[in-house]
Amino acid sequence: MKRTGDLKLMQELNRYLILDVIRKSGPISRVKIAERVGVSPTTVTSAVNDLIEEGFVEEIGSGESSFHGGRKPILLRFCPNNYFLVCVSISNSAIVLGESNLDAEISSKQVYPMNGSLGEAIVEKMLNALEDFLSRYTDLTRCIGISIVAPGIIDATQGLLLYNTKLYLHNVDVKGIVEERFGLNVWFDNDANALVLAERDLGQAQSTDNVLFVTIGDGIGAGAIVNGSVFRGSKGGAGEFGHITIDRNGIRCECGNAGCLENYVSWPSIYAKIYASIVRGIPTVISDLIQGDLNRITPEVYLTALEQHDKVATEILEETADYLATGLVTLTNMFNPSAIILGGELFQGNHYFLERVSEQVLKNALNILNDDLIIRFTSLGEDDKLLGAAAVALNDVFHFSLSA
Ligand SMILES: [Zn+2]
Repeated sequence: MKRTGDLKLMQELNRYLILDVIRKSGPISRVKIAERVGVSPTTVTSAVNDLIEEGFVEEIGSGESSFHGGRKPILLRFCPNNYFLVCVSISNSAIVLGESNLDAEISSKQVYPMNGSLGEAIVEKMLNALEDFLSRYTDLTRCIGISIVAPGIIDATQGLLLYNTKLYLHNVDVKGIVEERFGLNVWFDNDANALVLAERDLGQAQSTDNVLFVTIGDGIGAGAIVNGSVFRGSKGGAGEFGHITIDRNGIRCECGNAGCLENYVSWPSIYAKIYASIVRGIPTVISDLIQGDLNRITPEVYLTALEQHDKVATEILEETADYLATGLVTLTNMFNPSAIILGGELFQGNHYFLERVSEQVLKNALNILNDDLIIRFTSLGEDDKLLGAAAVALNDVFHFSLSA
């Protein structure tokens, strides 16, 4: 009996390997697949028959003949559109849903504003959003599951949200609740972990085994891939980059510590600096832009002031870049990444910011760790978190990265 078990496992493994070769190297002939995977042509034929029947693979035209006048082999290619995945991104402002094919191409995106929901109400809102989104499908047999990403400390193996202070969520069995309600496979992971996977599989850091993703917004999040796997720590809480101490006598943080990086590199810290400058009567174009109404200081206003080369706005950018670089030097010395990718909307595309950060990290991290270090902005675009959700599920389903 054990023998049958082993045989089945071997067949399963071969199937994964064969599908992986077709995904990454197709269109490709059966003969070439057998060569690449190192299995017999019979094994390839049998696995490919199953894959075609299930709709993962299709035959197309014919390839180059190896001998003049010889029979031309039929080629096989991956079919990304016969199955789909529902991707969900939860943030402080909205729940966003989208459909992804098996190549992580997002379509049918729908935004459900959070409208201040907190705690249990967020779970209810997510279930209602899913109910609404799924109602467009008459048949869910081709849906491979629902992949959800959210900020906070998440046990991705169990699918539990352990802790999120901003959303007032503690110990919520997100995976269990959604699985029970919809009867589909569910994946649930931290958004920064999902983003770093998406960068590795679809973005700026393809084929790298050691990459960090740092996102700057209302706070700072970070995800790390170390030696090819997401670095999670013992409770899934690794990557709390925003709470590394940069000044032990510094600003009090909501985590209970003082001088956490997040209080120097985030929108609230920038807001506080703008506010203080205006109150102190320092001339800035921001005063004109908000017409004296301090409630109108928004990231958009700040970015406009930066575009106009406002002195106060620029000095705040420089100070923020310097603090971020200080944190990144620590991460570089700790993890020796080959790439650091910066996400979040605040400074996205601002080359002065990127240059200032890069210059200091390259100067101050241990020289030997800096040799080929790449620091870039994310290229994932506005669907980044949905792509992250897709990357989480597809990594699990295919057990391999999507990159060639
Ligand atoms: Zn803190």
